[in-house]
Order: sequence, then C-alpha cells, then structure tokens
Amino acid sequence: MFYSKEEFKENFSMRLEQQEQPVTLQTAYSILAGMVREFVKRDWNETNHFYQNEQRKQLYYFSIEFLIGRMLGQNLMNLTIYELVNEGLGELGYDLAELEEQEPEPGLGNGGLGRLAACFMDSLASLQMPGHGCGIRYRGGLFSQVLKDGFQTEHPTDWINDSAGWDIRREDLATYIPFFGEVQPEHGQRFKASLTNAEWVKAVPYDMPIVGAYGKTVNTLRLWQAELPEQHLLPKADVETYKQHVVAISDRLYPDDSTEEGKILRLKQQYFLCSASLQTILKNRDFPVSALPKHVAIQINDTHPALAIPELMRLLLDGEGLSWEEAWGITTHTISYTNHTILEEAMEKWDSSMLEQLLPRIYMIIQEIDRRFKEKCHQENLDSEAKKKLSIIEDGIVKMATLAVVGSYKVNGVAKLHTEILKMREMKELNEHFPHKFHNKTNGITHRRWLMKANPELSSLITSVIGNEWTKDPVKLHQLNEFVQDPVFLGDFKSVKQQKKNQLTEYLEKNQTIKIDPESIFDMHIKRFHGYKRQLMNIFHIQMLYNRIKEDSAYRPYPRTFFFGGKAAKSYRFAKQVIKLINTVAEKINNDPVASKHLHIVFVEDYNVSRAEKMFPAADISEQISTASKEASGTGNMKFMMNGAITLGTFDGANIEIVEQIGDDNAFIFGVTAQQVMQFEEEKTYHAREIIEKDREIGQLISELLSGKLSKGLENIDFIRSQIIDENDPYFVLKDLQHYARTHNRVLAVYEDTLAWQEMSAVNIAQSGIFSSDRTIQQYSDEVWDLEKIYSR
Ligand SMILES: *Cc1c(COP(=O)(O)O)cnc(C)c1O
Repeated sequence: MFYSKEEFKENFSMRLEQQEQPVTLQTAYSILAGMVREFVKRDWNETNHFYQNEQRKQLYYFSIEFLIGRMLGQNLMNLTIYELVNEGLGELGYDLAELEEQEPEPGLGNGGLGRLAACFMDSLASLQMPGHGCGIRYRGGLFSQVLKDGFQTEHPTDWINDSAGWDIRREDLATYIPFFGEVQPEHGQRFKASLTNAEWVKAVPYDMPIVGAYGKTVNTLRLWQAELPEQHLLPKADVETYKQHVVAISDRLYPDDSTEEGKILRLKQQYFLCSASLQTILKNRDFPVSALPKHVAIQINDTHPALAIPELMRLLLDGEGLSWEEAWGITTHTISYTNHTILEEAMEKWDSSMLEQLLPRIYMIIQEIDRRFKEKCHQENLDSEAKKKLSIIEDGIVKMATLAVVGSYKVNGVAKLHTEILKMREMKELNEHFPHKFHNKTNGITHRRWLMKANPELSSLITSVIGNEWTKDPVKLHQLNEFVQDPVFLGDFKSVKQQKKNQLTEYLEKNQTIKIDPESIFDMHIKRFHGYKRQLMNIFHIQMLYNRIKEDSAYRPYPRTFFFGGKAAKSYRFAKQVIKLINTVAEKINNDPVASKHLHIVFVEDYNVSRAEKMFPAADISEQISTASKEASGTGNMKFMMNGAITLGTFDGANIEIVEQIGDDNAFIFGVTAQQVMQFEEEKTYHAREIIEKDREIGQLISELLSGKLSKGLENIDFIRSQIIDENDPYFVLKDLQHYARTHNRVLAVYEDTLAWQEMSAVNIAQSGIFSSDRTIQQYSDEVWDLEKIYSR
C-alpha cells in the first residue's frame, strides 16, 4: 500500500532488494504490477461486498473478444497515482514508460468489436456501475503479424505463459460444460431433460480487476479457461485425444473455420462461454430465479454468445424445473443483443446437424423456440419471403441473428445509419413484428485511454485552457470551442501534434528501422484488413499519385507519409494480397529518388492496442473510407477525432455522426452514399469495366495491375484481380477512386493554410466528447440495463 511518493519508493525498493536474481526491466515491471494488484485488492473486495449486500442489479457483458490492451499504465492512471509512481521510479533510476513496455500484449480480440467491449468495461467501472465482462482466456489470443518479404505471416503468441498476472484463478467457481451425449426426457409433471454420455469440460474462471477512474469501483472481467475435468468425468479410453480437444477450446481466438472440425471448435467456444457464465450467475444468486430480470441484465456482443438464449432456457427448464412460458418470460427479459454487421458473410449460420450433434438439448430448445415463433407469425398475414426472414431454422441452417432478436428484449445497432439499415432492410420483418425492440446506441471510446493515457501532452494543454472537468464529463470539451480561433492555443496544439509525430517517428525508427520525415503529413489507415475497409483504394490512389509525379515534372505535392496498419484474417487471401501489394508499392516508391520526397509509405507491423495508442495522437488525417453502408460504426474514427486528426472519409457508420457534430467544413467527405450503394446492388447498375475503359488514369492503373508491373515481386494477385474484374468490384473501389483523389487534393490545399487546419483540428477535439463510451454506457443503462450507480459509497 502506498499513498505518497516516499512510501511508494520505500516499498518498491524493498521489493527490489528481496530479489535474488539481478533485476531486469522485466522483474521491475512484475514488482510494480504486483504492487498495483495489491493496491487494487481492497477496493475490489469492497466493491464486491457492496454489490452483494445492496443487491444491486448486475450487468454481464458477454463477448467472444476483449481487446483490453496493456493494463499497468491504465490502472495507475485510473488510480490517480500515475504521476506519483512516474516520479518515484524516476528518482530510483527507472523509466515508467519503459516498464510499461515490458507488459505482454493481451491479444484477446481482433478489432473494433473487442475493443468496444474493453472500452465499455472501463466506462462501466468509471461511471461506478455494476457491470462485468464474461469472455474466454485464450492462451494464444490472436496471432502476431510479422511481415516477411512484404507478406503477412502469422505467429502464435503466448499471452498466458508470459502473462502479466493481472487475473486470479477462481477454482472455487469452476463449473462443468456438457458436449455431445443423448437427451433423456424425464416425463414428470412437465417436460424436462437430462444428458447422458456427454463429454464434460471443466471451466475455470480467471478474474481480472477492472479499475474505474479514481479507483473505488473495481469490477470484474471474468475469463474462462477450459480444462480436463476430474477423473470420474473422464472417458475410459484415449484421454490424450480428449485432453487435446478440451485444451483447444481456450487455446486461440477464431480458429480456422474453413473445416468442419474448425467450425465445431468455434461452436464449442461459444457454448463454453455462455454456459459457464450463465451457470455461475444462477448458482451464486441470492434471489428467486423468477426475479432474474430484476437482478441481472445480460448483453450479448454480436451473435457469438447468442447460445446464451437456449442455454438460459435449458438451465431454467431442466435445472430449475420451470415451465416453458415462465422460462421464456425470464430469458426474454434478461438478454439483449447488439448487432455489429450486416455483411452477409459475417452473419453467423450453423448447420442444424452439427448443432444437433454437438449440443443436442440446446438444438431441441432452439427448435421449440422456432416452432413457437413460427406459429405466432403464421397468425399474421405474411408472404413466403417474409416467413423465410422470420424463421430461425431454415433449410437445415440455424440463423443466429434471428435467434438473437427473437430471444432478446432489446436489439441495437451501433450507429444511426447502421440501425436504420437494420430496421428498414436487413431485419425489416423482425422490426415490424417487434416494433419496440430495435434501438440505436452509437458506439464510443474511453477518453481515459485514448486521450488522457495516449496523449498526456494534449490532455495537459486542454486542461490548461478549460480546466479538468472534461476528464470527468468529456462533453465539457465543448468549452474548447471558445479557443478554436485563438492563435496561441492553436500554436500550442501544433507543437503538441509535432511532439507526438516526433515520438512516433522515433519509436518506429527504433522498432522497425523505418525512416520517416516527421514534418510530412501523417495520413493513417489503421484497422483490420477487409475488402469493405478499402485499403485497396488507398494504395491505388497512392500509385496514381506516383504516376502523376512520374509523368508531370511540375506536379510536386506536399510531402506525405501514408501509414497502414492492421491484420488480415489468416484465411482471407484477398486481404493478404492487398497487404503484399501495399508493401510492394511501398518498396518502389520509398526507393524512388524523386517520388520519395513527396510520398512515403509505412506499414506498421502487428497493429495492436499499444501501437494504436502511439499512432492516433500523431495523425493529421484519419482515413475512414469504407464502402458506404458497410461499416456499422467504426471507433477508430472517434479516436482520431479526439486527438485532433481530420476525417477523410465516406458518409458511413459513425462518420455521419462525427460530421453532424463538427459540420461539413471540418471533415472531408466523398464517395457514393449508402443509398446509392444499396441501389447499385439491387439494380445491378454498376459496371466497373466502364470506368476502366473510360477513365484514362484508372485504365492505366488497372493495366499495370494486370500486367504485373504494379506488383513486381508479387507473383500472384489473383484474388485482387478477380474481385475487381470478375466480381465487378463489389466494394466500389473504382467508382469512388477519382472522387477520393480530388478530395485528397482539397485536403492538401487546406493543410497548407496552417491556421485553418489547426482550427479544424480544434473543432474536432471540442466536439468529440459525445463519442466517449461514458455517453454510450449511460444510454445503455438508462434505456436497456437499468443500472444504479454506487453513489452512496
Ligand atoms: C479502435 C481499434 C480498432 C477498430 O478500428 P476501426 O477503424 O473502427 O475498424 C481495431 N483495432 C485496434 C487495435 C483499435 O484500437
């Protein structure tokens, strides 16, 4: 326990002296992390006791991903002892930033969906609300990305083995999950069932403290680990294979699902998460089960945890002996669902036969949910198309999104446009059937990590002009509006931005041996690689600029560095070719004596939360160029805005709401609208070939691509070629390319007017408060979860 710098130094030094081995940075990190854990423990216990004694309603956020990032720095910050520890360590000859770098990166997520869950954890605790996470403790998490010869290669990480040790094993809360087996009906007063010959997996939770701002409220992120059960639950033969199957469940995030075996493993993971979490919630309650909706809210983050619906039914029917109607009433007043995508390929569907074999009782319950729902729908006057849309099981396929809507009391999209598309198109029939179920909750990001922690320099500057109330209530960043034309403030902002650009430059030069001009414009496109996110359009545009420089000796644009960062799913061949294409073009341009003075491309390897924290504050331009209608919300766009980068983007996802906040003049918007995209898709009136034939510049680009000139060193661009040519450019890359290029020119023109640019940045920061996840969480609480804050403490 340490409250003053002197106490901290004394305690830290004492622990250093107790070390028998020579002290490395790694041991110094572990000692510090251990001290923080102890520091947190009292508040954690108190929070838990308070929840128990006061019987406060609890929220459980079920998510297959929690992209939490490193914990040490954020915990110190939320405990308000970051400065104290920083100074104390400095006086002892240690650099806190350097110790923070020793913490292994927990790769328990893939992108925005997982990061959202992590931001929500921070906001719940910081708003002093009783909300906890339930996830899986993947040993490996997502792979780490290494570029070899410009290609992405995937390397397993072992987060747990070099674990930072933030989580605590809770053997006392272990539970058992059944797979396979046969359903044995028990005909008593009511229909019940049990399973025989099931394969049992032991689920052991590891609890991680989630420290809210100013300490005090410490919630729990509960991560489940799959283990071999005790002897009597083991099969008689071949325990080794059995063990391998068990361990695989919490081995890695998103195992390859191109094989049958991979699909079964994913389904196992999903059920494992849902069953373990629900069993513990029910087992440890001190209220009658009929009061569950009063005491517990469960939010499912996309459909990966949608099996929570039939699993809760199973536990209520077979475990608690309730009637179907009672169980259904409880379930549909406890669970709510967040939809994250309308991309067809991302809509989860499982083969009935697979579900039936792996989870026979669960499948039986889904069938019954479907049967009853169909019966209800048949009383409405519906055509066959509508009936199809309203079925959970159809042609031997189980549609998880439909199950999630039917079994939830609220369903939300994650930005206004996305929710509208859900209601009017994707889930039109469901919305008509359940008119009050759908609502919007625009995503958010925690300003504590993405501004205060990632950009202390900007935070101090903001506080120096408007005071620090914004740290508690980020909407108060509005007060900056008074200063957006103040040349002194703008000058200070410019120096902070330059400082962050210098820091990133140094970091990348050291870690990736890349040379960067810190005075150039930093233009960033950092996110997962995906067709709809259109990294391909960005690199096509850069190639066009290169061609212009080559052809026109008068064309010498302001120096720009284009940053890319992000991973492609291991089996997503198209996206992996785009990564290679970017690196090929980079090699050519970066080594060209003329072009490299104007254009520079940097691919930041292994994009993750820690790298992101270094990149967002250094950006001038935020590339948010998804095909309109495809990006549900985006949260990277919000992190950039909060750090004063200007959005160059399409009218998609939360970009629309960003522009709503700052006005058209303070962002660069281009491209076809969602309406137009959907019309093109419906009427099939877009023809990429016409653009290739008519537009000289694009024609040249595509012929370079097809002839292999663009992709020298890249033998195979089949997937890019076939997407653009054979599949008629489904993400409208060529359609938007020239408009994108012209918009880049507008960006350059404004950038050279320094004051005008800085004013735009300042307006962005001043208007970014609404995108704090504190606002999002408050709305969920008011309209969905009905949580009470812990003011009384
Ligand atoms: C914010 C964030 C994302 C999401 O970025 P989008 O631009 O919204 O897709 C993905 N990965 C990391 C590491 C992030 O911090």
